[in-house]
Amino acid sequence: MKLPKSAKYIIVGGGVHGLSTAWHLAMELEATGKGTGRDIILLEKSLPGHGASGVACGCVRNLYMTEPMHALIRHSVDVWNYDPVALGFQQVGYVSCGEANQMEEYEKIHKNQNAVGYPSDLYQGKDAHRFLTSIWPDFKYHSVDVVLHEKLSGYAGTAQAINGLKSMCERHLVRIYSGVEVLDYDTVNGQLSAVQTSQGLIQCEVLVLGLGAWTPKHWELLHQPSHLDVGYLNGEKIKNKDMWTYWRLEEGELYFDGPYYTAENLNPPVIHIELMNTPVVDALGKKLKDYVYVYWKNGTERMERPGIQGGGMPVNLGNEATVDPYGNANQQYQADHPEFADYISACMGMFMKRFEGIRAHFKERPNGGIGAFTPDNIPILDWVLPNVYMIADSNHGFKALGIGKLVSRHIVSGLPIEELKPFSFSRYAEGKAFGSGVTNSPWV
Ligand SMILES: Cc1cc2nc3c(=O)[nH]c(=O)nc-3n(C[C@H](O)[C@H](O)[C@H](O)COP(=O)(O)OP(=O)(O)OC[C@H]3O[C@@H](n4cnc5c(N)ncnc54)[C@H](O)[C@@H]3O)c2cc1C
Repeated sequence: MKLPKSAKYIIVGGGVHGLSTAWHLAMELEATGKGTGRDIILLEKSLPGHGASGVACGCVRNLYMTEPMHALIRHSVDVWNYDPVALGFQQVGYVSCGEANQMEEYEKIHKNQNAVGYPSDLYQGKDAHRFLTSIWPDFKYHSVDVVLHEKLSGYAGTAQAINGLKSMCERHLVRIYSGVEVLDYDTVNGQLSAVQTSQGLIQCEVLVLGLGAWTPKHWELLHQPSHLDVGYLNGEKIKNKDMWTYWRLEEGELYFDGPYYTAENLNPPVIHIELMNTPVVDALGKKLKDYVYVYWKNGTERMERPGIQGGGMPVNLGNEATVDPYGNANQQYQADHPEFADYISACMGMFMKRFEGIRAHFKERPNGGIGAFTPDNIPILDWVLPNVYMIADSNHGFKALGIGKLVSRHIVSGLPIEELKPFSFSRYAEGKAFGSGVTNSPWV
């Protein structure tokens, strides 16, 4: 397909956000009679799914201490359910476990989730353990004080999701150009006029960027600030903070021919355990970490035998990282792999009898990728120029498939969208940064 000289709408990035935006923008244009998918082109420097969207664990959860995330994820689950088969969505639920120090946070999350129409159940004290053993009869750890069960959550297979989204785009006549890299932007009077690509210049009226870990590079190309006064985070005034911080995600896969089933439920919920006061200890009694942070789900993307995929706490890489080559192809970010394998296997064995001794089943190979996080670790969904919209999801976002739908509605209607408002860039200047919560994780 020959690249056109101009397009009304250009979307850059063939990850979940670029593809979802292209698909929904096409539907929005059709529904309002303002155009069709023929008005949209999507540019991807490699192939769709080349970035984080192709390597994510795929968990879809709503465990956020930042309350505006709850409505965003509720909306996103509606999009997953538009065609769960085509998009590979498994609505198995999500079970999160905490200790007494997180009780208040869990109560708030539970209350707000239900208030925005995202049903969850909360179990405290002895009920927490009773609930866990009703799903996993061999759940053997007795000091989980609080459990939240999100019924609408689950996970999606990444390859299936990307293929499903591509099909939706193609069905609505969006043209996807793979192997076309955006190199720079031309502006006139502060507005974008054209996009410089590896295959020539394309003029355009509206540009949407969904660039995952490549966001900081394009933020700079668009002359946005490298540092910010963020206001207050966890009660502390933060000045001149790096705009972007890279984190390496720690994930991996384990063979488990179990199968990983329960009496009630062939495909159990995703489980997530954060115990901030409990060290991780392996079978020989060696302490591996001061606290527990782990999640896992049934099913893997890359294994030929049944297995389990999970992860732990990401690692802060600071404000510089080599993004290319990305993901499993980048050896630089796989260095801690054996330690991670020890860690996740020990965690799983600590909580469920069936996983005792599972270390030998860890699939030793490169896993995962990096993400670019905003100053408060919460997405920025906003215009960066009057006609350039940035979806900077702060690595929250495989699950947040609905962002593209909301952004499309906003672009076509020109009206503010309630769910998007809290994620404006101006929140930092207005002292409305997020980022506070009782957790060791950056995903607050
Ligand atoms: C290991 C790992 C596990 C994760 N697990 C989960 C999870 O369980 N649940 C969850 O919700 N989230 C998860 N995430 C986060 C989630 O994957 C990301 O937030 C999300 O996929 C980002 O989507 P995106 O569309 O913004 O970016 P990406 O998927 O990274 O897509 C960006 C695309 O832009 C393309 N591109 C880059 N530069 C250019 C250019 N100049 N020109 C043209 N194209 C360009 C890239 O090739 C890439 O395909 C995980 C992330 C990682 C790394």
